[in-house]
Amino acid sequence: MIIKHSNINLKLYYSTVVVGIIIMFIGLFVGNSRSHQFNLGIIVHGVLVVCFTLCLILYPIYKSQLLRIVMMIVATTYFYTIFLLYPYTWSNFIFLCLIPAMSILFFDKRLFYFSLFLNALLVFSIFSYIILVDQEEVFPYIAKDMVGNVINFIGSQVILFYIFYLTYRRLKKQELYYEQIKHSERLKTTGQLAAAVAHEIRNPLTVVKGFLQLYERDPSYNEDNKRHFSLMINELDTAEKVISQFLSIAKPEKETETELVNVKLVLQSVTDLLNSYGHLHDHNIILNMGEECYIDASTIELKQLLINIIKNAMEASKLGDSVEITAESKNGFIYIHVIDTGEGMTKEEIDSLGTPFYSLKSRGTGLGMMICFNIVAKYKGAIDIDSEKGKGTTVTIRFPAAKEGNC
Ligand code: ADP
Ligand code: MG
Repeated sequence: MIIKHSNINLKLYYSTVVVGIIIMFIGLFVGNSRSHQFNLGIIVHGVLVVCFTLCLILYPIYKSQLLRIVMMIVATTYFYTIFLLYPYTWSNFIFLCLIPAMSILFFDKRLFYFSLFLNALLVFSIFSYIILVDQEEVFPYIAKDMVGNVINFIGSQVILFYIFYLTYRRLKKQELYYEQIKHSERLKTTGQLAAAVAHEIRNPLTVVKGFLQLYERDPSYNEDNKRHFSLMINELDTAEKVISQFLSIAKPEKETETELVNVKLVLQSVTDLLNSYGHLHDHNIILNMGEECYIDASTIELKQLLINIIKNAMEASKLGDSVEITAESKNGFIYIHVIDTGEGMTKEEIDSLGTPFYSLKSRGTGLGMMICFNIVAKYKGAIDIDSEKGKGTTVTIRFPAAKEGNC
């Protein structure tokens, strides 16, 4: 939301606004039937012109949600006031129809629906007044063809809704595209960094670990020291694990050969492997799979991807709960769903997935999801996460189905 408003072309905005303000002041003083008699009507009109002018001038400076709501209310009051004050200027009715268009410019969904609702309510009230009280006295042009005017009003609101819908959808798509580019850029940079740093660190670590293993077997050290050595070796093992994971991220630099991967077989072998891991924690993996599906990828990487995601699902689940995996083929794509009923994630947590070292676990590396995003991107797939805090998570992995040997 914020991006577009900060990109307002100020020069263009102010020149348009100045023209609008001049027209409002001309309307107030030139040829105005009420301007020669100083009454409440002209005062209200004048005050509203000043308020609306202030809002338009201040908007680029403050750009707050509150100011947008105030602007919407002031604009609505202004256009309805001139409609009621100058009943012979029939064209004022056009402005009433166009009021919600203003919130289209703000790209604010809730404000748009609010103004659409408010506008319908006000027009309904005014038309009822015209039918029941006015009876062709002050607003003859509306009363004479009430049905036609109502239809025109509804039609104009439908058109505005359609314009808003199209603009909003396009904007959302652009936003998503921008996010994806940012994400892949982040992955690329981290991959390059990983390759450079990991190699440099791995060698000294191996040397230190080798010496520690030697000392551990050396009888001249007492048992207390040896306990420290094995602790140090454990920590070095963890460091090595992180580095190996990092190195696997750096791989996309090289072209890996793709093969025809049987998703069913891979899922079965991964499930068997993880079921033994799951038994330790009392988790069970349920695999629902129909026909055989094939994708063009690397078996090892697909396994790595599935292991990471299924392990996350198991780690998020309560003791005794199962993780369900289903696979299906639809419209040329293979979808693998990993469903858990575990702790779930908030929207912010989902957005952080894939960020290096983002982990909420005490012994997590925070690299698993990053590797997963990397692997799916490599084979033109995608990961979609649907999660609710406290309820569970469904991770959907999508890959294009292989041309040959489809389901
Ligand atoms: P790690 O598993 O090492 O913590 P990941 O990148 O695999 O790193 O996951 C990052 C974080 O995302 C996890 O720490 C966890 O908080 C969250 N997460 C991932 N998958 C799930 C899931 N299925 N349910 C709840 N939280 C999850
Ligand atoms: Mg993980």
